[in-house]
Amino acid sequence: MGPTRRCVGCGHSDDKANLLRIAASEGRAVVDASASRPGRGAYVHRNRECVEQSIHRRAWARALRIARVDAQDLDAIATSAVENDRKG
Ligand SMILES: [Zn+2]
Repeated sequence: MGPTRRCVGCGHSDDKANLLRIAASEGRAVVDASASRPGRGAYVHRNRECVEQSIHRRAWARALRIARVDAQDLDAIATSAVENDRKG
């Protein structure tokens, strides 16, 4: 098992490889599919349940320390997480 990170949806820690990284960039939340962006990041499991939980809990702004997260950014996070989920 590699390094672990905490999912902002379910709150459980898991191998980084099982999580999608979201990075804070100029006050916005951007999908960091290659987990290579500098700066503050937060993680969510690649499944619909964890993404929905994270959005419901308004976890992203807090985790990324930004004022608010645009709906379109949340959509991008959800799409990326679920796409990766489907690919397995
Ligand atoms: Zn999770």
